[in-house]
Amino acid sequence: MTETIEAPAALRQINHWIGGVAVAGTSGRKGPVYNPAAGRQSGEVDFATVEEVDAAVQAARAAFTTWREFSLAKRAELFFRIRELVHERREELARILTSEHGKVLSDALGEVTRGLEVIEYCCGLPSLLKSEYSEQASTGIDVYSIRQPLGVVAGITPFNFPAMVPMWMWAPAIACGNTFVLKPSEKDPSASVWTAELLKEAGLPDGVFNVVNGDKVAVDAVLEHPQIAAVSFVGSTPIARYVYEKATSTGKRCQALGGAKNHMIVLPDADVDMAADAAVSAAYGSAGERCMAVSMLVAVGSVADPLIEAIKERIPNVKVGDGMDPSSEMGPLITREHRDKVASYLDEGTVVVDGRENCPEEGFFLTPSLVDDLKPGMRAYDDEIFGPVLGVTRVATYDEAVRLVNESPYGNGTAIFTRDGGAARRFQFEAQAGMVGVNVPIPVPVAYYSFGGWKGSLFGDRHIYGPEGIDFYTRGKVVTSRWPDPATSTVDLGFPQTR
Ligand code: NAD
Repeated sequence: MTETIEAPAALRQINHWIGGVAVAGTSGRKGPVYNPAAGRQSGEVDFATVEEVDAAVQAARAAFTTWREFSLAKRAELFFRIRELVHERREELARILTSEHGKVLSDALGEVTRGLEVIEYCCGLPSLLKSEYSEQASTGIDVYSIRQPLGVVAGITPFNFPAMVPMWMWAPAIACGNTFVLKPSEKDPSASVWTAELLKEAGLPDGVFNVVNGDKVAVDAVLEHPQIAAVSFVGSTPIARYVYEKATSTGKRCQALGGAKNHMIVLPDADVDMAADAAVSAAYGSAGERCMAVSMLVAVGSVADPLIEAIKERIPNVKVGDGMDPSSEMGPLITREHRDKVASYLDEGTVVVDGRENCPEEGFFLTPSLVDDLKPGMRAYDDEIFGPVLGVTRVATYDEAVRLVNESPYGNGTAIFTRDGGAARRFQFEAQAGMVGVNVPIPVPVAYYSFGGWKGSLFGDRHIYGPEGIDFYTRGKVVTSRWPDPATSTVDLGFPQTR
C-alpha cells in the first residue's frame, strides 16, 4: 500500500502597502503568521528594510501636500464612505482577525464595532477641527486660533487588536489632514493590508495610508526617520518606554500606551452573581489578551469565598474552541510560546482551576484558570500575564484594596463592584488609573472620550482617540489680523456651497 503525503498548503504572502499598491519586501527576512486554533503556520509576512520604511514615508510626504488641501467637507464625505464600507464588510474583517489572532468571531466583530465608533466620531471632523475667534481683540484687530496637521505621522500597534487599535490611530490622524505610516504587529498583519485596500476603494488618495510590516528594524527606522512628525504606539510597557524615549529624543511628538494589570475590587455588599459574571467575562474574554482584561480580583472581607465559588461554577461553562465555530466563547492564545509562558504562571498561590487540563489537542489553547491567594511580590501577581488566568488576592478592608490598585506600577483600568454609591464615589476619586469602572469591568471609553492609562500604562501626555486624539494629531496656530475695508465684493446669485 502506498502512503500519500499531503503537500503543505502554500503559505499566504503578506506584503507592504506603499503609495496605494502592494509592495513585496526585498529584505529576504520574513516572519511566520499562524492559525492559532490549528497550531499551524498559515502565512508569512515581509519584514521591511530601512529603505522600505523610507519609501513609505516619501509616499506619505508626497500625498500630504494634496491631502491637507482637501476641504473638510470632502474629507468628511470620504469618512462617511469609509464608515459604510467597513460596516458592510465587517464580517469579512472579523474572519481575518479570527484566523490570525484566534479570538472568537463574535469578539472579533465586537472589535470591529468599537473601531468603527472611532471612524464614526471622525465623520464629524468639521466640528472637531473648529477653533476660536475673538473679534475686536484690539481696535480693528481680530485674533483666532487654528489647528493644522503635523505632516507624516506613524502608528506602531500590538497583536491583540489588529483592526481596532490601528483605527484608533489612522482615523483621527487622517481626519486631521495628516498622512500615515502604519507598522502593525508582525503576528497578525493581514487586517492592516485589508484596511489599506478598503481605504483605496473608498477613494482615499494613494500615499495617505501606508503599511510597512516588520520587526525592530522597521520600528527603529520609524523612530529615527527625520520626516515623521509624531508616533503613536500601543504595546507592552518596556517597548512603550523605549519607543517614547527614542521618538522624543529625535524631536517627535509621541503617545506610547503600555501594558496593564487591571484590578477589580469587589466589596462585601456587591451582588455576588453580577460580580462573578463580570469577572469571568472580563478575565477570559479574548483569552485574557486584552489590555483592559481583569487580571486581579481583589476580594474584600467576607465576599471572597462565595465569589470564588461562583466563578469556579461558571468556568466549566465557558466553551473553549476554534474561534470560527460560532458556539465558541474563548479561542486560543496567539502563539505556542505565549501559551507556554502564560501556563508557567500556574505554579504560585492556590490553583483553584488549572487551565492546563482539558485543553483542545491542537492549537495554542489554555482553558480558563483561577488562582487564589496571590500577593504582591509573587510573579503571578506582579507580571502582566496576558492570558486566561484570573488571580485573586484577599484583603480585609477597602483601604487595603485601593492601596493595591495605587501601588501597582500600571494604571490602565480598574473597577469596583459595590451597591454603595459613597464607596464608588470615593474610589473614583482615589484610584490611580486612567479608566475606572463602577460595576463595569472593562471601562473602555466611548469614542467621544479618550482612552489611556496612568503610570507605566502610558508614556506621553495625550490619551488616544476622542478629543485628545484630535489634539495629538494637530498643532495650534494663533493668527492676529487687521484688515482695511474690503473694496472687492462681487455679485453671485448661486446657492452658497461648502466645496
Ligand atoms: P509588543 O510590545 O511586543 O509589540 C508591540 C509592537 O512593538 C509591535 O508592532 C512589535 O513589532 C513592536 N516591537 C516588539 N518588540 C520590539 C522591540 N524590541 N523593539 C521595537 N519594537 C518592538 O506588544 P504585543 O505583544 O504585540 O501586545 C501586547 C501588549 O500590548 C500587552 O502588554 C498589552 O497590555 C499591550 N496593549 C496595551 C494597550 C493599551 O491601550 N494600553 C492596548 C492593547 C495592547
